[in-house]
Amino acid sequence: MGFLDPKSYEDISKGTTIKALCPKCQTTKQKTNHEILKSLELRYSYWIEEYQIKKAGIYPAEHSKEYQIIKCLGCETITFREFYRTLEGEQSTAREVLYPKRTFKSLSAKSLPNLPDKILGIYTETLNSYNSENHILCAAGLRAIVESICTHQGIKDGPLEIEKPTGEKVSVKRTTLEGKIYGICEKGILTKSHADILHEYRFLGNSALHELEKPSEHELKLAIEIIEHILESVFEMPVKGNVLKARRVNTPEVEPNLAV
Ligand SMILES: [Zn+2]
Repeated sequence: MGFLDPKSYEDISKGTTIKALCPKCQTTKQKTNHEILKSLELRYSYWIEEYQIKKAGIYPAEHSKEYQIIKCLGCETITFREFYRTLEGEQSTAREVLYPKRTFKSLSAKSLPNLPDKILGIYTETLNSYNSENHILCAAGLRAIVESICTHQGIKDGPLEIEKPTGEKVSVKRTTLEGKIYGICEKGILTKSHADILHEYRFLGNSALHELEKPSEHELKLAIEIIEHILESVFEMPVKGNVLKARRVNTPEVEPNLAV
C-alpha cells in the first residue's frame, strides 16, 4: 500500500445539512438536522495491491478526515464533528465522532436554575463523566454532590443501622457519607427507600476512592436520578413554594362558583 501526501479542502461541505445527535434535542431519541458551518477536509489517496483485496490489479483508494463545526437547526447548539470516510475498491465505510461525546443513552442536565454555582459545576462534570463512560469519575462526582448538599444543609451525621455480633440491629450516628445520606433522610428531603438504594451502592459508601470498583452504568443512572431528586427538593421546591405563596397573597380570593 502506498500513500500520497494529503490534500486539504476548506469549507467544501459548508452549508450542507446532515443528521446528527444533538445533546439537547436527543430526548426525542432521533437525530436532528444540523448545518455544517465550517469544515476542513484532509484527503489521503493511496492504492491497494492485489493481495489485499484478492483481485488482480492495483486499485486506487481514498481515506478522508473531515473536521466540522455544525449547528443544530432545532435548538442551535454547536457541536464539533469529526467525519472519517474510507473508499477501497467498491467498499466504502464512514464513521463520525461528536464532541462533547454523546449517544442515545446520554443524560441531559435537568433545569436547576437555583442550584449554587459550585454544586452546578460538580453536577455538570458528573453528567459529562457519565456520558463519556468515565464511571469512576462519575461516582466520585456523585459523592461530592452528596457531600455538598450535606454541607449546605448543615448535616454532619446520620443514623446508620448496624448489626451487632449477637445479630441485634442497632442505630448509631455516623459521620461517614453513608451516615450523612440517612441524615438527609432524617431531614425529610429523601425517602427511606431511596436512601436504602443509595446505601446499597458501595461507590457511595465510605471506602477510599482509589479502592472503588467500577460501578455499572445502571447503578450510576439510578443514583443520578435519586440525587437529582434531592437537588430539586433542596434547591428548587422551596423557591417554587415561595412563588406560589406570593401569588396567593397578591391574588384576591375568587368566589368558588365564579372560578373557571
Ligand atoms: Zn438541538
